[in-house]
Amino acid sequence: APQDVVEIVDTALRRAEAVLAEHRVAVDLAPDLPVLRLDPVLFEQVLFNLLDNAGKYAPAGSTVTLSARREGGRVRLDILDEGDGLPESEVERVFDKFHRVRKSDRVRAGTGLGLAIARGFVEAMGGTVTAANRRDRRGAVFTVMLPVPARTAPKDIAA
Ligand code: ATP
Ligand code: MG
Repeated sequence: APQDVVEIVDTALRRAEAVLAEHRVAVDLAPDLPVLRLDPVLFEQVLFNLLDNAGKYAPAGSTVTLSARREGGRVRLDILDEGDGLPESEVERVFDKFHRVRKSDRVRAGTGLGLAIARGFVEAMGGTVTAANRRDRRGAVFTVMLPVPARTAPKDIAA
């Protein structure tokens, strides 16, 4: 079924309200987002898991930003936070099952499965999800790239 990105983002944000209750949330959605043909349950769970982490690992009062735009024939979603970010050696390992970065993370609720599940779901939708550190300031950024169905993609896609 076609899925409005704006609708899915709204649903995920509503679900994440409790975990983001003490954060500022900034949402930046491009006006030309296409309709995606993706499983809305998977898509929403991916966004939720990333928002849940931003809420858990970035301090109260900091800003969590969710942006979405078209990029090179795909839709790119970024979830940015202002927490400690990730050691460079961890940006790939965080997607491993049960892997947690800091000893102190063990006192926080969680099993270390959220990102493994998110990656499995994104790949099932034909996309990718990657982690990095922000360049402009402290914090992590998780980037989800999802395919736009050929029928609704513009013919002259810029790379
Ligand atoms: P679960 O998601 O199963 O409740 P979890 O949050 O520990 O538990 P993941 O979501 O898979 O598991 O994340 C794995 C680890 O990656 C976390 O334990 C944490 O160490 C690190 N991590 C994830 N997101 C962030 C983030 N936004 N900032 C800093 N570290 C993060
Ligand atoms: Mg998690």
